[in-house]
Amino acid sequence: MPKFFVGGNFKCNGTRESIASLVSTFNGAPAFPPSVDVVVSPTALHIGYVQDNLRKDMSVCAQNISTDAGFGAMTGELTAEVFTGFGVNWTLTGHSERRRRLQQRKRGHDENSDGVSEKTQLALKAGMSVVVCIGEVLSDRESGKTLDVCFEQLAAVKDKLLLEDWSRIVIAYEPVWAIGTGVSASPQQAQEVHAAIRKWLMTEVSADVAEQTRIIYGGSVKPATAPALIECVDIDGFLVGGCSLTADFIEIIKAIPADFDEQRRAHLKADANSIQSIGADGKLAKM
Ligand code: PEP
Repeated sequence: MPKFFVGGNFKCNGTRESIASLVSTFNGAPAFPPSVDVVVSPTALHIGYVQDNLRKDMSVCAQNISTDAGFGAMTGELTAEVFTGFGVNWTLTGHSERRRRLQQRKRGHDENSDGVSEKTQLALKAGMSVVVCIGEVLSDRESGKTLDVCFEQLAAVKDKLLLEDWSRIVIAYEPVWAIGTGVSASPQQAQEVHAAIRKWLMTEVSADVAEQTRIIYGGSVKPATAPALIECVDIDGFLVGGCSLTADFIEIIKAIPADFDEQRRAHLKADANSIQSIGADGKLAKM
């Protein structure tokens, strides 16, 4: 049974001082349960400091990599190989703030599903593991297109992966309307989509991949909302933005039961039909 996965996305935040203070806060946290993997994503400039100073039961993750590969005449780029050369073995791809910047802010990257899948493939090729972010905007949800959007984003990635690559993929379901808004998806809303994604993996990839792939939830996760989300049988972790910049990140990790694996196993046994019964019919909870 894979461990619960908690990622902290610092986004474009932090001074030398604030990152040093955050690292010191994290280092002072009680030991994490053995049932959890923790990674943090500082800006590329802060990665070196965090790697050198953060305690070793947390790994460092890039927020983005280049669509170029290797080393060479690529001014301003940070390729997967540059990161792995520094021992950074995780990256996010497809975060909504990169997918949608052009539409929302009239500048930036406007990454589409093809670009995201290309970056995912490059990261894997360089030996990294990848947190692939997917999710719908509010108008998609309101028009009943949540699963269409998620599956389109996933299918583009799947088309570039070999079966064995899936062991280095974590899927982050992050409804865009819940990111940075303070409004988390309800446990029911999140669980429905997670179950549908698992069912999609089962049909489109394999039963084994569906069982082993962590599907994590992101969107305004807070210490107060984490426990009910952890209870959901298809939620295998969190991607945390705002709260990863404070001691709340530790509070969220503390909410994960030390025997998470056993509890999840028992839950799955009791609820053997959950994957089959929920989701892919497109009937999702109303807002
Ligand atoms: C994120 O940046 O991926 C995120 C989920 O942010 P927040 O927790 O602030 O909504």
